[in-house]
Amino acid sequence: MVVDSKINSVVVLAGGVGAARFLRGLALVHDKQATTALVNTGDDTILHGLNISPDIDTVIYTLGEAIDAQRGWGLSDETWRAMESLKRYVDVRPTGSIAAPEWFNLGDKDLATHFYRTARRSEGADASQITSEIARAWKVAQRIVPMTNSDVSTVVELAQDCQAGKAGTQISFQEYFVKYQHSIAVRAIYFQGAETAKPNCINELNQADVIVIAPSNPIVSIGPIRALAGVDEVLTANRDKVVAISPIIGGHALKGPADRMLTELGHESSALGVARLYKNITSTLIIDTVDADLKDAIEREGMRCIVTNTVMSGQKISGELAQTTLDSIAR
Ligand code: GDP
Ligand code: CA
Repeated sequence: MVVDSKINSVVVLAGGVGAARFLRGLALVHDKQATTALVNTGDDTILHGLNISPDIDTVIYTLGEAIDAQRGWGLSDETWRAMESLKRYVDVRPTGSIAAPEWFNLGDKDLATHFYRTARRSEGADASQITSEIARAWKVAQRIVPMTNSDVSTVVELAQDCQAGKAGTQISFQEYFVKYQHSIAVRAIYFQGAETAKPNCINELNQADVIVIAPSNPIVSIGPIRALAGVDEVLTANRDKVVAISPIIGGHALKGPADRMLTELGHESSALGVARLYKNITSTLIIDTVDADLKDAIEREGMRCIVTNTVMSGQKISGELAQTTLDSIAR
């Protein structure tokens, strides 16, 4: 594969796993130093008093060749002794205390990242600075940037009474995703703090040659980035150079709750549903070959549609998808 000389800077709007895989493919066909990942931080949480940024860590660990590929999150060759040792405290924890949470696994090696992030925050460093330090520690050459330096929290509202609470109760994204394994129905999603948070990389978006919306959850990974003031306007103004890859294949997410979330929130769980969500901000949508029959309907929504293999099961296919993505704008 050849590096495209017409394209210099590429900005990728990123969630976790799907985006990380795409970025790894992009590294095969495009200059890493000219690549910026603008990453969702709506999933961020505090546990054990530690600041945890799941999507940023997934992207950095993947690009640092350290991700546990089977699990899809965390580090390879991980051990869990700190987690096991937590059990000792569960019996003495007073009712109502959130100390010693056992529902969110943090590996021993992974803890070091959260220690570092938390310590640097308490020293007053901002999220961009801390993220660039962590990326540097993992020898990641791409620029990895949190979507904002402010705290924005994705909150989900329960659609019906369930183990997590009564209908209408709002719970944090990680409780929804990890504690209840996204098996409960939701009726609304909020991005607390998004209206007043200043987005990062607005200039980079304006100046980019290509803006990629990675195959990430449109609602809870791309949604928080779009919710920041001004981001959708910048994407709309640069729509001609925005290309998205559908995370929905054959009506389903490869992993996670994107499909049921789309349906529960009144969208269609299909590449066409993704097209409708993105049509104001995207000129091109890349969909999987299994969805080829949706191409005409997607183009009737007013965007170009490219059909190719999008399941990034290995490096080769990720690289080819990245090349197709760049070519779709640089024609
Ligand atoms: P998370 O934050 O780790 O949950 O990951 P994302 O925000 O990236 O969202 C997961 C979405 O990525 C799911 O809807 C998956 O279908 C999608 N995804 C993951 N891997 C791939 C892939 O190889 N190809 C495509 N097209 N989508 C993918
Ligand atoms: Ca995520």
